[in-house]
Amino acid sequence: MMSIRSLAGACLSALAALGAFAVPASAQTYPTRTITMIVPFAAGGPTDVISRIVTAHMAQTLGQSIVIENVVGAGGTTATTRAARAANDGYTLITGHMGTHAASVPLYPKLAYHPEKDFEPVALLAGTPILILARKDFPPKDLKEFVAYVKANAEKVNAAHAGIGSVSHASCELLNSILDVKPVGVPFNGTGPAMNALVAGQVDYMCDQIVNAVPQIKAGTIKAYAVATPERNPSLPEVPTTTEAGLPAFQAQAWNAVFAPKGTSPAIVATLNAAAINALDDDNVRKRLLDLGSVIPAPANRTPEALAMLVKNEIAKWTPVLKPAS
Ligand code: ASP
Repeated sequence: MMSIRSLAGACLSALAALGAFAVPASAQTYPTRTITMIVPFAAGGPTDVISRIVTAHMAQTLGQSIVIENVVGAGGTTATTRAARAANDGYTLITGHMGTHAASVPLYPKLAYHPEKDFEPVALLAGTPILILARKDFPPKDLKEFVAYVKANAEKVNAAHAGIGSVSHASCELLNSILDVKPVGVPFNGTGPAMNALVAGQVDYMCDQIVNAVPQIKAGTIKAYAVATPERNPSLPEVPTTTEAGLPAFQAQAWNAVFAPKGTSPAIVATLNAAAINALDDDNVRKRLLDLGSVIPAPANRTPEALAMLVKNEIAKWTPVLKPAS
C-alpha cells in the first residue's frame, strides 16, 4: 500500500506536472479543437462571404475546422456583444467591420462593448469600397439624376440597410446627410437579404460593400451609380467614382477584420494572425477576394497593431458624422 507520504508526493508531482503543462500548452498546441467564427450578419452578405473565403484557408493552416456562426440583430451589435463576452481562449472569434467596431459607437450610447477595450485585434481581412446601388427599374439613369430624384422624392423613396450601425446604414447616413434627405430606412439582418430585396425591386436603393454587389451588377439585376472611392475598382471598370459622377463629397470604404475577446493570449493572437496572413498570400484566396472587388491589405496593414490603429481612427472619423443622426 502507498504510504501517506508517498501518496502526497505523487499528488504533488501530478499537480506540478499539470501546472507546468497547463500554461505553455495552450499556446503551444492551440488549436486543438474547432474554432467558431461569429459573423454578425446573415449568410450570403459581404461579411459572411469574406469570412468564409479566408477562414477556409486559415483552417488548413491551423489544422482545425473553423465553423461560421451567423448571429444576427441590432446592426451586428448583438453578435459583437456575444463575442466580447465569450471565453478568451481563442475558440470564439468574430469577423467585425467598420460598423460593429466603429460606427456603432456613436449610434448606440449604451453599447454593451467597446471595440477598443473589449477585443484583441487579430487581422484585417479586406477593404471593401462602398457603392451606391439601386433596384434595376429605379428611374434615375446616373448619379446626377439619382441626386435630383432622391431630393425631389424624399418622402417616397426608401433605403435598405443591415440595421442601425451597420456599414450599409452608416455609409448611407453619410450619403443622405450630404444630399440632405431622410429616406425611409428598411432594415434587414444583413445586406445578403437586403440585396435579395433590391434585386426583387422591393426597396429603392442601398449603400453596400462591393463584395455583395459585383455578381449582381455583372448579372444586370441591379444598378450601380458610383463607387465611393478615389479610384474605380478593377472588378467593375465601367462604374464611375463618385468624383467622376459629380458627388465628390461622398467617399466611403469599409473593411472586415477578425477580433478575439480581450485577454486572448498574445501567442494565440499571433498564431491566428499568421494564419490570416497566410490566407491573404494564397493565390486562390486573393483571386476570389479581388474578383469581388475587395482590397487586399498591404503587408504593413496586416498586424494586430495596425488593426488597433484602424479601429481607433475609424471611431474618430465616424463619430462626428453619425452623432447628429443618432
Ligand atoms: N455588409 C454587412 C453584411 O455582411 C451588413 C452591413 O454592415 O451593412 O451583411
